[in-house]
Amino acid sequence: MEKFEQIFSFINDKAEKYEKDEGMSFLDGVLQALEDVLDEKESWIGKEATKEEVRKAVQIAILKGMRKTSQPNHQMTPDTLGLLVGYFVEQFFEDQLKNNPISMLDPAVGTGNLLFTVMNLLNDKVSATGIEVDELLIRLAADTAELLEQPVLLYHQDALQKMLVDPVDAVICDLPVGYYPNEEVALDYELCAHDEMSYAHHLFIEQSINYTKDGGYLFFLIPANLFESNQAKQLQKYLKKHAWIQAVIQLPENLFASKAHEKSILILQKQSKELRAPREVLLAKVPAMSNKEALSMFFEKVQMWKENK
Ligand code: SAM
Repeated sequence: MEKFEQIFSFINDKAEKYEKDEGMSFLDGVLQALEDVLDEKESWIGKEATKEEVRKAVQIAILKGMRKTSQPNHQMTPDTLGLLVGYFVEQFFEDQLKNNPISMLDPAVGTGNLLFTVMNLLNDKVSATGIEVDELLIRLAADTAELLEQPVLLYHQDALQKMLVDPVDAVICDLPVGYYPNEEVALDYELCAHDEMSYAHHLFIEQSINYTKDGGYLFFLIPANLFESNQAKQLQKYLKKHAWIQAVIQLPENLFASKAHEKSILILQKQSKELRAPREVLLAKVPAMSNKEALSMFFEKVQMWKENK
């Protein structure tokens, strides 16, 4: 058995035991299993494993739990998307990462899978903050961060309310999509929609920009139709004022269950007086992951754009 399978089996067996003996949900059982390891009630089978092996094993266990309970806000960012986001973070921060670590915020951190995929990829050169409104998810994220020994500060709160976070170099976020129910809080935003409820995903973009340093970058997984909704004009106007669109990357359709679930990557830079907008916005489509040739052409296109930007 591979190391990550051994770790998964270990967590799985414990979670199933909690499910059977204590009547817990499988996901609560996973959490309990991780806490037992951290409290040293169990010896940890993942001691010799890499951070990626531990992340993958925990991720599979959490996914199994999410499938069993199917709560609508229990979604995890899949590895393929996390690795692509990580690739772009690496490209945009290439120079800075040679000498200094970067600070990062994920305001909808969920289980942390997206954040930890990116942090592991960047080889411990990131210190991060994560925000999440769902208590079970943030507890899973906190335990995973501790097992991975990744420096992450986590806050259990509504990310659209005031946060105790200093401006960061980079934001990454798989945006929660839908209407934001707290209309009073929405009033504080330029992107508040006055004739209907505001879109949470728009407010998340504004809030993320608020907590980014001037010249910092933001990497969002957005609904593919973000710029086609009835609130899109307001968003475009807002972006023009505060950010420079660096890239809009379409993702392969076969990564998503249906057209309505399709996502793209939107990369923004917060405007700064010392900097200028890119000469050209990178518009590209990631080919199917199985098409190696097309994939290497895609990466070449990104490199060429980067050299001329
Ligand atoms: N990247 C995450 C991962 O890998 O697990 C998944 C993110 S999921 C698409 C969006 C997350 O946003 C959900 O976990 C949801 O609970 C959270 N969320 C929704 N509204 C929120 C709010 N107002 N403040 C903080 N988190 C929120």
